[in-house]
Amino acid sequence: MKYQNKTWFERAIFLSWYCSKADCKFCLMSTLRPFIKNPKKAKRHPASILAEALLCKILGWKIEFLSGGYESYTKKELLSLIKNIYKIYKKKLWLNIGVLDEKTLMLFKPYIIGVTGAVECINPRLHDYLCPSKPLDEIISMFKVCDKLGLKKSITIIIGLGETIEDFSLLKKFIAKHKLDKITFYALNPHPNTIFKKGPDPLYYAEWIRKTRQAFPELEIVAGSWVNRLDEISLLLKAGANGITKFPAIKLFSTEYAHKIEEQAELAGRKFIGTLTKLPKIDIDEEVNQLDLHDDLKEKIKIKLLSYIKQMKK
Ligand code: SF4
Repeated sequence: MKYQNKTWFERAIFLSWYCSKADCKFCLMSTLRPFIKNPKKAKRHPASILAEALLCKILGWKIEFLSGGYESYTKKELLSLIKNIYKIYKKKLWLNIGVLDEKTLMLFKPYIIGVTGAVECINPRLHDYLCPSKPLDEIISMFKVCDKLGLKKSITIIIGLGETIEDFSLLKKFIAKHKLDKITFYALNPHPNTIFKKGPDPLYYAEWIRKTRQAFPELEIVAGSWVNRLDEISLLLKAGANGITKFPAIKLFSTEYAHKIEEQAELAGRKFIGTLTKLPKIDIDEEVNQLDLHDDLKEKIKIKLLSYIKQMKK
């Protein structure tokens, strides 16, 4: 992918609040673990997920990946969800739901473009301390299976976990060695009850993106910001990010925050694809009736879509 004069918003579609690992030191799931012991109760309703996928399609938001903690769904449930999202979105999806084995990847292959390995921190010593239950080796093994099956590979990296810019050489080696197609950077957003108190300086965060872009002109780079850091977006785009993620786009649709993202894109000289600010006229019946899904599920999607639209109009 060439470094372009366009940019866009990518939405991670969140599937569940449960994660069987729940011990990564920066993660919201680790703080929720004592309260969520039953994965069944932590799942979103399929209609809510499917309505969100439909909204992504209508508003021109890319689906960054389907995201969820380890073992929050059975394989059968996941397959049904992925198939239905694919039917709605009409493009193959990225998955970021933990390490998947070959049999599972084969099963999902008709509907997915690739998988995202949640590496988070490239410094191996820090990684093992921060993510004790998800060793890098497992992600690397999954990437080998992806090569065999012809699936694309991506990773997520959080900046601000204690790494330094000297660790960039490790990231450079990792991207080259595993021939990654995409990377998503996040600036650490410290959650209450974790050991972290503040996110990284925007210039330091942008430096990781700049170095990655310089080393890999064709790599797709997505950068996460947060509502309290939106002024950094033009900096991240100028540093070489293609798209922007990690914005509560439904909740904050057309607010000053959403306008700021589009303004920041303009400031960086990019044309913003899709919209975070202008709600088009949506004929819910027409949009949903045409979907190749069961009638009772369609009715539930209509109710959910209407509630999202109402929220966005507020
Ligand atoms: S594996 Fe992922 S979802 Fe689970 S605790 Fe770690 S970062 Fe959070």
